[in-house]
Amino acid sequence: MTQYIPIYLSIYLSIFIAINQKLEIVKEESVRFDSDVPEFKTSGGVHSQADGMTVTAPTLMWVKALDVILDQLKADGFDFSKVAAISGTGQQHGSVYWKKGAETILKNLKPEQTLHQQLKDCFSIADSPIWMDASTSRQCQQLESAVGGADRLAEITGSRAYERFTGNQIAKIFQNDRYAYDDTERISLVSSFGASLMIGKYAPIDYSDGSGMNLLDIRKKQWSEECLQACAEKLAEKLGPVVKSTENVGNISPYFVQKYGFLADCAIIAFTGDNPASLAGMRLQEGDVGASLGTSDTLFLWLTEPEPALEGHIFINPVNSDAYMALLCFKNGSLTRENIRDECAEGSWDKFTNHLMTTPPGNNGKIGIYFDVMEIQPLLKGRFRIDEEDQCVSSSFKNEEEVRAVIEGQVMSRRVHAETLGFKILPKTRVLATGGASQNKIILKIMSDILNAPVYTQDVANSASLGAAYQAARGLMGNGKFNELLENLSAMTCIAEPDPKSKDMYTQLCARYKMLEKKISKTEDSA
Ligand code: ADP
Repeated sequence: MTQYIPIYLSIYLSIFIAINQKLEIVKEESVRFDSDVPEFKTSGGVHSQADGMTVTAPTLMWVKALDVILDQLKADGFDFSKVAAISGTGQQHGSVYWKKGAETILKNLKPEQTLHQQLKDCFSIADSPIWMDASTSRQCQQLESAVGGADRLAEITGSRAYERFTGNQIAKIFQNDRYAYDDTERISLVSSFGASLMIGKYAPIDYSDGSGMNLLDIRKKQWSEECLQACAEKLAEKLGPVVKSTENVGNISPYFVQKYGFLADCAIIAFTGDNPASLAGMRLQEGDVGASLGTSDTLFLWLTEPEPALEGHIFINPVNSDAYMALLCFKNGSLTRENIRDECAEGSWDKFTNHLMTTPPGNNGKIGIYFDVMEIQPLLKGRFRIDEEDQCVSSSFKNEEEVRAVIEGQVMSRRVHAETLGFKILPKTRVLATGGASQNKIILKIMSDILNAPVYTQDVANSASLGAAYQAARGLMGNGKFNELLENLSAMTCIAEPDPKSKDMYTQLCARYKMLEKKISKTEDSA
């Protein structure tokens, strides 16, 4: 039996994190694409075309970044022989096109040379389409109409068609660059591409990242034949199989054993997308909500019974493949809160907080729906104030009511839209808050009351990388053992408990909010 203190390594293309058995970070290393591999001439790690829609990243740059980072770790004396398992993550939706014959090269890598030297001619498309690309509107329309509409596509794959989703990107390549498509023997996601490098052969796509393609049937957990056919020919064979996100996809390639001193039995656990990896890094469990309160607010929901809708995205859960997760992004987060702070609290968070403390829960029936920038759900911009009699009012509320209205309105919208996707508040539900606004305990108290669940905070900078390291440990030791470990090591602090007295009041207020938001959207739509 091999003797080592296990270390779990996470690879996020440009960031490496190694954790020990107490899940503490023992080593971090990173590269900056623009300055550390400048020959690829990227800005922010990407190439943006003049049309403003097409955004790609050079595939070989990611390979070279891996060379650079492993060499840095070696130079630092990092002991690769202690690594028990590796997992990783990549930007969700991006895709890599391996040229015919590439796997033979991947299987026969020579340690005397670098990865990027040996793989330089392995890609039929040199620049990978990535999540920022928005050039596939036509393909999105084609896919939705081929399967019978946006609702039906969401029902099958968890999301309506989105430009960045990989199926639509593949369809564009199939239509516009048929030679390159036909010359492709495997299409990887950025995540499974990373895993392929590590095992020295093509690694399968995992369920969670695969859910961001508009191609996977999220209930059957297999490729949807109708979606594949609507996008391109012979796609099933180019995509290969799909596996659980915690699947052990093979031992490390001999190349890394010989070159860096990994042990031959170091396990590679499926790599996944950065959104699912963040859910793992936030340590979400059944029934939980992760709330990232930054410039935009993003909710990560743990779902047992998904109800795909035209808004948000449902993915198979990376931690437990019998469950699901949903991602909901709200554009009006901190920036809108700051606008109200500047207008009604003299630019001071202290005064803003004071207003929250001196106004009653429920704001005497006054509701504010404040979308200073175009919101995603619903697609709406503007400030809407509604009095206790459901009448829209044109003038502002009093300063302190405005402040309560922005926070209560935002949190109610989070609850209403989460419930639309099948989220249910369970007795064990916890809200795990991160991001700038999670410093504000009164905001968290209001979240706790409206969501009727305790709110916890934790220090998880870089949750995607950390999540991938957890996936390595989880994949190797199994869910049961890993969850036990998490429980014993939990670093979460409970900041707010819900007040049982406000439960019914907020449930009713949320129903009102839902009705009002719908009504306003309809009115604005027809205006
Ligand atoms: P991002 O990563 O999206 O840039 P952060 O998660 O770093 O954003 O959050 C920054 C935001 O946190 C700031 O824009 C600010 O609005 C908000 N913030 C900071 N302190 C407070 C506070 N005490 N109360 C509410 N919001 C706060």
